[in-house]
Amino acid sequence: MNHSEESCIALVNGTLIDGNRDGPVPNSTVILRGKKIEEVGKKEKIIIPDAAIKWDVTGKFILPGFMDAHVHLAAYAGDQRIEPRLWRLENPAALKILHAYKNAKETLMAGFTTVRNAGNVTTREPEDIILRDTIQEGTVSGPKILACGGGVSMTAGKGALYYPAYLPVVPDLGLGERTADGPYEVRKEVRHRLRIGADFIKIYTSGGVASKGDKPEYDNWTLEEIKAATEEAHNFGKRVASHAEGLNGIKNAIMGGVDTIEHACILDDEAIEMMLKAGTYVSTTLVVMKAIADGQVRFPVSNYVIEKAKALAEIHFDSIRRAHEAGVKIVLGTDTFDLLRHGENAVEFHHLVEAGLSPMEAIKAATKTAAEAFDLSDDVGSIEKGKLADLLVIDGNPLENIRLLEEKDRIELVFKAGKMVKNQKQAKDSNTDS
Ligand SMILES: [Zn+2]
Repeated sequence: MNHSEESCIALVNGTLIDGNRDGPVPNSTVILRGKKIEEVGKKEKIIIPDAAIKWDVTGKFILPGFMDAHVHLAAYAGDQRIEPRLWRLENPAALKILHAYKNAKETLMAGFTTVRNAGNVTTREPEDIILRDTIQEGTVSGPKILACGGGVSMTAGKGALYYPAYLPVVPDLGLGERTADGPYEVRKEVRHRLRIGADFIKIYTSGGVASKGDKPEYDNWTLEEIKAATEEAHNFGKRVASHAEGLNGIKNAIMGGVDTIEHACILDDEAIEMMLKAGTYVSTTLVVMKAIADGQVRFPVSNYVIEKAKALAEIHFDSIRRAHEAGVKIVLGTDTFDLLRHGENAVEFHHLVEAGLSPMEAIKAATKTAAEAFDLSDDVGSIEKGKLADLLVIDGNPLENIRLLEEKDRIELVFKAGKMVKNQKQAKDSNTDS
């Protein structure tokens, strides 16, 4: 497509939160051409091309598209009350991919243009990779998905204990979630994921909440096994995300070279110091622990899960608060799966604010810092000339009230790579017509 044929859109006179600056910039205009941001600046300094489709966004805020570091898209998307892990095991791949598609779409409508699917992949042909590719080729609409093709856990590790014990050897069933013990098995499993096109590697270095028969305090894998995973991934230029809730499992993950700590529930000063030194990111997931502890989930949850979440929820907030104060890089993650509705990812923002982040810092956790953590900074994470036009327009000031971001009707426009994927006003009008 030559230059003149590319679509050109001008968002005129909004208040810009660009992902870089610490304050908003009023009277800003952003020009999108094709997939990219062509120009951004003060309204009076920008010449709007004649061919541009103009959107007056006076009084509205323009933000970079949000990113969620931790979702599980192939989760049940209906209203029937059903045990999440059993639903995953009882249903065929095609059905799970359709649910994943619906979930992905809801997530995009909430302004999340990039998500990292953190495992719980239960099909031989990983649904996160298939959906990612279907979205990428343009067949269906959804956020950019970073797929791992299923987590790798030790036998009796969190990833295995999430599923019932009558499935003794997960690999024999061809599930995406696989077990590996010893550095060479770990290397092979990681290489398998690299072979099928994983964007990052998900591992487990501590026990967890949703797993039966363990505790977050239990270590998963030795340091040697963790290093085997990170060496293989890094050799391919891929990052590693580790489920790590207990203190020792977190420290082992940092020492083992993991890039993002998922959950990070229990932190002490030493762990915080180690993360600062290693440049490790924390993906927060505050909402899920609190929702389980407070009994606010939609589906049946076993008592052992509730008890473990209750013991952790407050400590978790305190850990994130101290990590943030010390300068650890914080990335928004929700752990959205069957428990929370997909498309409600923005609830994590106010949890981050409760943990001491300013509204602007919370927004950066879901934009600029997330892009850095995912190694996508060249393309996304901020509204800058030359970057992909992933952005949204919201009616309301999220710096005054961060919870406005949860009101999906206020997210009026969403662009992904320059394409308008949501126009709330039009959606409303067509609803009234039908
Ligand atoms: Zn998770």
